[in-house]
Amino acid sequence: MPTLFKDQVPGNTHPLNTVEGASEEEVSRHQVDRPPLFEVYMRMAEDLARRSTCRRLSVGTVITDALLENVVGIGYNGNVKGFPNDCDSPTPGACGCIHSEMNALVKAPGHLPGKVMFVTASPCPMCAKLVVQAKVSHLYYRTPYRRAEGLEILVKAGLTVVHYHRWKDAFR
Ligand SMILES: [Zn+2]
Ligand SMILES: [Zn+2]
Repeated sequence: MPTLFKDQVPGNTHPLNTVEGASEEEVSRHQVDRPPLFEVYMRMAEDLARRSTCRRLSVGTVITDALLENVVGIGYNGNVKGFPNDCDSPTPGACGCIHSEMNALVKAPGHLPGKVMFVTASPCPMCAKLVVQAKVSHLYYRTPYRRAEGLEILVKAGLTVVHYHRWKDAFR
């Protein structure tokens, strides 16, 4: 029996997105006629990225609970609260900005399992390790970062990782 992916993204195996044992007919008849919730949260992350004050890269993050009912943390990259809205240094990789994922994770309850994270860019290795440590179970990213090590860490740790771009330009 085939699995129906409600948002038509086969990699999106989140329980809210799958119907196990659907019939061939149900699968072929299924249409996406409104923005999937996953896309809505990703767009929220994109909006947050616009608030980034980093000169090198703008990244936004939204973290929800397991059923995507509550936003439990938001973030974008930039300097620490009360400091100038600027990087400390122009040196690549050492601009001193707090990463978007870190800013969101410090707000989200660490004990809550199965958290879902939406990030506009795939995470760096250190953020990826924090994501694992913080009991996030699903991570959706819009654009792959130039280095893939972060994604490899997430996959190795058993997270579901989805490159989410199928509905990027739809419903606009
Ligand atoms: Zn910066
Ligand atoms: Zn990072």
